[in-house]
Amino acid sequence: MKKPSGIAILGSTGSIGRSTLAVIALHPERFKVAVLGAFSSWQVIVEQACEFNPEIIVLVDEAAAMKARAALRERGCSTKVESGARALAEAAGSGNVQMVMAAIVGAAGLQSTLAAVRAGKRVFLANKEALVMTGRLLMDEVRRAHAELIPIDSEHNAIFQCMPGGYLPGDVARGVTRVILTASGGPFRTTAASQMPHVTPDEACAHPKWKMGRKISVDSATLMNKGLEVIEATLLFGLPESQVDVVVHPQSVVHSLVEYADGSMLAQLGAPDMRTPIAQALAWPDRFASGVQSLDLLAMGPLGFETPDYVRFPCLTIARAAARAGGTAPTVLNAANEIAVQAFLDRRLNFVGISTVIDKVLQRLDAAPVTDLDDVWEADAAARRLAVTFIELSAGAPA
Ligand code: NAD
Ligand code: MG
Repeated sequence: MKKPSGIAILGSTGSIGRSTLAVIALHPERFKVAVLGAFSSWQVIVEQACEFNPEIIVLVDEAAAMKARAALRERGCSTKVESGARALAEAAGSGNVQMVMAAIVGAAGLQSTLAAVRAGKRVFLANKEALVMTGRLLMDEVRRAHAELIPIDSEHNAIFQCMPGGYLPGDVARGVTRVILTASGGPFRTTAASQMPHVTPDEACAHPKWKMGRKISVDSATLMNKGLEVIEATLLFGLPESQVDVVVHPQSVVHSLVEYADGSMLAQLGAPDMRTPIAQALAWPDRFASGVQSLDLLAMGPLGFETPDYVRFPCLTIARAAARAGGTAPTVLNAANEIAVQAFLDRRLNFVGISTVIDKVLQRLDAAPVTDLDDVWEADAAARRLAVTFIELSAGAPA
């Protein structure tokens, strides 16, 4: 029997992290959880550590790490506890880790995702922001380090499954003329434009099909998630923005499609449950159970496809323009979005303000070439500063 693979789960306390551990629990002979990492949820990570017995857990927040250390000692667990972003990146690149689930949300995941890539690991990429903000740099590092990048995002995982056998992101997608990302349309698919300024964070996070963290839920409500995914697809599959289409598919059964030169279209279907793409990636190139039931085609009802409403959801238009501009434009887009979404969740900005702020930041900061990570972090910081200013200026303005 094969030796179990050492796996690090970065963002283990989040939605993707928990689903990953649920799949791993079904296959204890295949994986040895070596590292768990998160920001500050010490109670959750302590429970996970007691169940999966990793060598090390890392909480970026120092105070939370101290609490986890005390709790683990009390329970007689031998797991080592470290703190800080650097410790997390080091753990992701360590020798007893062969696979890394990159499931931290936002730009905060870049350092550890990059460390895993540079160490040549098999990286399961949920943290789409790390890819979007660095553009070609991350894919170049994958190639240089002979790492393997397997997409977890359900659409990109679906496309990966529909690619020719042996294909890995970064390879040329031979014979592929187009990829088509499906979008559920989010909670406001049929909401009138006049109602959009008044929607609340809780309404935005009540996604009709998927249960996810709050940041990506808001991204799904604005359709910025689909915009980020267009950019993610251009980078993973080496296609221009014009060859990445988006269709709204409210049933969320078809997770995405690949169109070939011969007129074939291949689609991947499944229940809207992230354990399926996670299991596909963990088992690749094999297949194993995920704990998800397969579809009942006869009970499913008709499937519909619609054009996205680019007027009510300007974030998709803005993201497409950033994809075409390239350079630092996706970095700026992602950073301004992170700031605007947090302001919306904190009730400092209304829903419509999210796209307005991102648009203004992109108008102000011209796209510049990206040659190294310093360019990325500079553009990221400039965009965040400007977004904060625009949000402060808009405070108190009528909805
Ligand atoms: P989540 O909010 O549920 O969890 C986020 C995780 O990241 C938590 O473990 C948290 O502790 C950790 N984290 C946050 N800030 C951190 C920091 N500064 N340093 C270290 N760790 C930090 O988010 P999620 O829904 O699981 O999403 C995670 C990523 O996966 C995102 O990039 C998201 O876009 C992507 N994704 C999620 C889904 C989904 O269904 N949830 C689907 C596709 C892609
Ligand atoms: Mg997705």
